[in-house]
Amino acid sequence: MALVTAYIAIGANLGQARLSVQQAMQALGQLPLTRLIHGSSLYRTAPIASDPSRPTSATSPDFINAVAAIETGLTAPDLLLHLQALELAAGRERPYPDAPRTLDLDILLYGSAQMDSAQLVIPHPRMTQRAFVLVPLAEIAPALVTSAQLAAVAHQSIEKLLPAVS
Ligand code: AMP
Repeated sequence: MALVTAYIAIGANLGQARLSVQQAMQALGQLPLTRLIHGSSLYRTAPIASDPSRPTSATSPDFINAVAAIETGLTAPDLLLHLQALELAAGRERPYPDAPRTLDLDILLYGSAQMDSAQLVIPHPRMTQRAFVLVPLAEIAPALVTSAQLAAVAHQSIEKLLPAVS
């Protein structure tokens, strides 16, 4: 069985967002044929509209974001199905675009694979536009992010959260 290193973006901005992200990180490591290699710190970011012409609601809460590196024997489509099951288990609904969400999981990279199907585009098409992806990704995999890419999103506000004291 071929094992592939994949990078998953985790985001939440409803309910106990910090806890949701931490639990999702653990859940990724418990998927079949999968182990968690690295988890980034947690970051707090302001919501960004996927359609820049339509402003996000001023009441939309900040997001908590992180990136996880996993090693997996799942195919990319199977991995996506498992991520969607985790989103559903976290109670995710999609009443409208950019709605606040309890959990959002995106496949950023799946080895060196390039895919473009109706269900799955890899590398994730918007990953280089978002500080909330690039900053945590650079923390755990600095070789995958260039300083020019980081500079291009430097105007987006992002705050690294201190680890919770246990
Ligand atoms: P979102 O609302 O941002 O979670 O988008 C979910 C949709 O994006 C699903 O229908 C997926 O099939 C699709 N999708 C395309 N590429 C990816 C990817 N790399 N990771 C996760 N979802 C993807």
